[in-house]
Amino acid sequence: MKKDKILVIGACGQIGVELTLALRKMYGDANVLASDLREEHELLKGTGPYVSLDVMNKEMLHVLVIRHNITQIYLLAAILSATGEKNPLLAWHINMQSLLNVLDIAKEENIDKVYWPSSIAVFGPNSPMQDTPQHTIIEPTTIYGISKFAGERWCEYYNHRYGVDVRSLRYPGLISYKSAPGGGTTDYAVEIFHEAKEHKTYTSFLSENTYLPMMYMPDAIRATIELMEADASRISVRSAYNLSGMSFSPKEIAAEIKKHIPEFTISYEPDYRQQIADGWPNSMDDGQARADWGWKHEYDLEKMTADMLKNI
Ligand code: NAD
Repeated sequence: MKKDKILVIGACGQIGVELTLALRKMYGDANVLASDLREEHELLKGTGPYVSLDVMNKEMLHVLVIRHNITQIYLLAAILSATGEKNPLLAWHINMQSLLNVLDIAKEENIDKVYWPSSIAVFGPNSPMQDTPQHTIIEPTTIYGISKFAGERWCEYYNHRYGVDVRSLRYPGLISYKSAPGGGTTDYAVEIFHEAKEHKTYTSFLSENTYLPMMYMPDAIRATIELMEADASRISVRSAYNLSGMSFSPKEIAAEIKKHIPEFTISYEPDYRQQIADGWPNSMDDGQARADWGWKHEYDLEKMTADMLKNI
């Protein structure tokens, strides 16, 4: 049997750090090669092999995959929603070309499995806002959402046409304390905890009643690993699965924080990110993930808030 050898691309980002550490626990430190454009993240140092890699350089990536006998690739490098709106052509170029490089090398080298995350950003103002279904109107209006939707189509295409075992989740906004978020529209839900602890006050860039689907990082990491570990026969969606944890507004998360820090106050100054959030679902129906490979979330707003405040 071939030994699993995993390459994580974008390992120093908000998800990458925690996912790399979780994969190292499962597969052994030496079998998970972390890579990123950035310098190695503090939390990764000394935990396993690290290489500097620009995923846009296909030749370099190809050589790395062959040299290290890579059998699984997790592609996490991307330009996120808020940053993407500042330079749409760059976001499109990086988000698409990185995925095409990985899919094509996976096809060439018969890589066992590929993971690439999609996002709630694939949905747009014409999608149903409440309990957005797996299959529905998909008309994204941000460049990030457009690139994620196109990426989903490419994943399904490479699976159907070439048999590449690529799997994907439409992550909600992710909340974590180990590594900082990278320029998304849901970043307020991380910033608010730091500001609450340090300054007892926060100014939200989204309005008080903006509901968005959210998830605590431990749930997101577990979902990713459970999807990747599931038998291929259980994966009926080869574009990307809806994935759901909780849904809340800035007003609700502030009220939950106030239970722990009574003097905490919040004010609202919506900026350009409000428009992005307004086009996204309030909540998502992830029944297909639950039915196909047994997904079940663990953290709600109350449990997550207590854990975040304890750890940051
Ligand atoms: P992040 O911005 O925190 O991390 C991305 C990492 O990729 C960074 O460390 C960056 O240095 C690296 N990177 C960028 N360009 C690169 C390149 N050319 N070559 C190599 N590395 C490069 O992002 P994240 O929040 O960890 O997101 C990871 C994935 O999950 C992305 O595809 C993102 O769209 C998706 N996602 C994230 C969220 C969220 O809330 N964090 C929600 C939905 C989907």
